[in-house]
Amino acid sequence: MPGFEFFGAEERKEVNDVLETGILMRYGFDGPRKGIWKAKELETAITQTFGCKYAQLTSSGTAALTTAMVALGIGAGDEIIMPSFTFVASFEAVLSVGAIPVLVEVDETLTLAPDAVRKAITPKTKCVMPVHMCGSMADLDALAAICKEHHLILLEDACQSIGGTYKGKALGTIGHAGTFSFDFVKMITCAEGGVVMTNDKEVYTNSDGYTDHGHDHLGVDRGADLHPFIGYNYRISELHAAVGLAQIRKLDTFLAIQKKNNHSLRSYLEQIPEITFRVVPEGGVDSCSFLSWFLPTAEATQAVVAAMKETGILAGNFYWFANNWHYISKWDHLKKATTLSRISAEQEAALLKLQTTQFPASDAIISRCISTAISLVWTEEQIKEKGEKMVACIKKVLGK
Ligand SMILES: *Cc1c(COP(=O)(O)O)cnc(C)c1O
Repeated sequence: MPGFEFFGAEERKEVNDVLETGILMRYGFDGPRKGIWKAKELETAITQTFGCKYAQLTSSGTAALTTAMVALGIGAGDEIIMPSFTFVASFEAVLSVGAIPVLVEVDETLTLAPDAVRKAITPKTKCVMPVHMCGSMADLDALAAICKEHHLILLEDACQSIGGTYKGKALGTIGHAGTFSFDFVKMITCAEGGVVMTNDKEVYTNSDGYTDHGHDHLGVDRGADLHPFIGYNYRISELHAAVGLAQIRKLDTFLAIQKKNNHSLRSYLEQIPEITFRVVPEGGVDSCSFLSWFLPTAEATQAVVAAMKETGILAGNFYWFANNWHYISKWDHLKKATTLSRISAEQEAALLKLQTTQFPASDAIISRCISTAISLVWTEEQIKEKGEKMVACIKKVLGK
């Protein structure tokens, strides 16, 4: 998955362009920057590569989610329906805007189960936020239909699925807005960075101003800009954008290698009839950044994890059920509402309620799932060795 595996002369060249002028900021300094606008260039490249009208870069994927929520008018007390399986950043962003995260069950797509979303809708629901985990996607047609029926916003957390598509459209460009993360371990990286993508001009204009203290960016003199609303600083720097610009040009290469390596490893696991794979909704194309597979039972899965550890091949394999960062089972800080400063009584009550909320359907899926991260630098020989060792571990556990 990570673009950092292919870091080289192209990234150095783009960063050097910025270092030559010394203008490290994305706005202003029109003369001294000598025509170098890496953030602007990257935003244009994003709109062209992924097919959306507007793109606003941010300092991180988390900042992109926060910005998207604010730009969409989501705020205090609004409920956002999101999956129980995601990276912590998803609920961090929800809390940051004063909204309430409503966690619901996932299905074998590894993200929002449409039925669970339907059941969670209340008069306070404002948004449905699928998180396209591990390179593949939610059943977006089903979720879009629910949103339309109930007049809800569809916001895609596509931070982990750069390059995946659904019915011909890039993930992250299908909802009212969508976000990518360009942190160090994502498909393409800026070191730190993110983007809000949208086809709605107002959402874009709001994002543009919000990420830069509310500047309207209408004049030529930054100091004379007006501030139509209160903003924040979630700007990306030119240095970070420069890295991303080199990376986005390599995206097609990354995706092709990833697909080849993913399918190659999958062919080994397919030899075992008891192994099933993550469901990709009809019309979806997985970015192939992970191979996510299921064993018949939680016990067998834990035994396979132990066997892979013993064989020395566990690195790069994620058993999310026991992972500190990605599944509700380990989010004690969330369930205890452990924050450094006071949050609203409404938010606190919603978080404490999670202590007694059960997620039996998600438990039954996530406890049987292992996701293998696909490296861009594996050789065929290494995939063969990995595949054969994985198969041996699985067969041993299944008693075959
Ligand atoms: C990485 C990630 C984010 C946040 O990205 P950062 O750039 O690290 O802030 C948000 N959601 C998901 C699902 C992610 O994987």
